[in-house]
Amino acid sequence: MTDLGTVPAERLSAHTTLRVGGPVRRLVAPATEAELVETVRRLDAAGEPVLILGGGSNVLVSDDGFDGTVVKVVTRGISSDVAACSGAVLTVAAGEPWESLMDHVLEHEYAGLETLAGIPGLVGGTPIQNVGAYGTEVGQLITTVRTLDRSTGQVRTFFAEECQFGYRSSRFKFEPGRYVVLSVTFQLRLGSLSAPIRYPELARVLGVEVGARAAARDVAAAVLDLRRGKGMVLDDADADTWSAGSFFTNPVLDADAAAALPADAPRFPQPDGRVKTSAAWLIDRAGYGKGYGDGPAQVSSKHSLALTNRGDATAADLLDLARRVRAGVQQSFGITLVPEPVLVGCAL
Ligand SMILES: Cc1cc2nc3c(=O)[nH]c(=O)nc-3n(C[C@H](O)[C@H](O)[C@H](O)COP(=O)(O)OP(=O)(O)OC[C@H]3O[C@@H](n4cnc5c(N)ncnc54)[C@H](O)[C@@H]3O)c2cc1C
Repeated sequence: MTDLGTVPAERLSAHTTLRVGGPVRRLVAPATEAELVETVRRLDAAGEPVLILGGGSNVLVSDDGFDGTVVKVVTRGISSDVAACSGAVLTVAAGEPWESLMDHVLEHEYAGLETLAGIPGLVGGTPIQNVGAYGTEVGQLITTVRTLDRSTGQVRTFFAEECQFGYRSSRFKFEPGRYVVLSVTFQLRLGSLSAPIRYPELARVLGVEVGARAAARDVAAAVLDLRRGKGMVLDDADADTWSAGSFFTNPVLDADAAAALPADAPRFPQPDGRVKTSAAWLIDRAGYGKGYGDGPAQVSSKHSLALTNRGDATAADLLDLARRVRAGVQQSFGITLVPEPVLVGCAL
């Protein structure tokens, strides 16, 4: 495999934003899409366990590491097809950092993604859990996702309608490991104005009504400010950001369960009649909020939903903290929180 860019065996903690994860037998970083496809096909044919890794910002890897080959996605490139009627159709290689795509769209005045500024990781990771923030989810702007289907060894392209995008989910999350995302195609509007602002906190900061538009650059800057205040932008100097972002998803409850919540609990009615509530609110109210914990793994001092590594935490420390928080919420409200990051080699 040396021809495919093998990096000497090392610990996965160097490749995850939670800074945990034990040793890996082998790590390869194929430079082109063709090499990526060929590498995964070859490993699958040999029966080798494979872990596809992007920016490592949504994984919690066990201290035992991964006894197999980690395929790090590093393919780069953005190709654009711009026309007045269809807008900007951008096909982006899976290994392109999300941040560089954000820079590209703001520079060229392609609108739609601006509220997703500051999310770490790579483009290929975004359809997996239908990344979202401040009122936008990538699934709203994705037209196709090109993949390698590891069950057949064939390249397969999905239209957005086939991706089963939902709240922090997609078909790629339902069938973990089956598909390698090779590239993602987005369709964006031409223009410097943002999409309508749907998130009240963001509208307030921008000084506009909910539903109004603002300059996309201002929206991205305001989102970055808001996110920094919550420790949700990676910062080597700030342990509150040494996390996987939100550790738990917001529970979506049926009407009876929602009615049983305290009167002041947040309630966001969903199109299917269910009600989404706030995991952060539940954690706070249960007594496990900002700064909870006194060991090497603690709840962020800036955001109750982020579990953080204060410097020398292990995956076991983070799992222990997650179990305590989950049990506390379960005991107070009878709701079992579900982790958002992908757990590799471990379970809650
Ligand atoms: C500080 C911080 C803030 C965050 N804020 C948000 C937020 O606001 N909204 C949000 O939705 N998420 C957020 N996240 C989570 C995370 O950044 C996103 O989910 C991101 O898209 C993950 O991309 P990644 O490349 O880091 O994926 P990784 O962590 O490397 O991988 C995550 C999962 O996807 C799989 N995967 C990755 N790339 C591919 C590929 N090319 N093909 C197939 N499978 C693949 C991996 O196998 C793994 O199962 C945050 C994380 C952090 C650390």
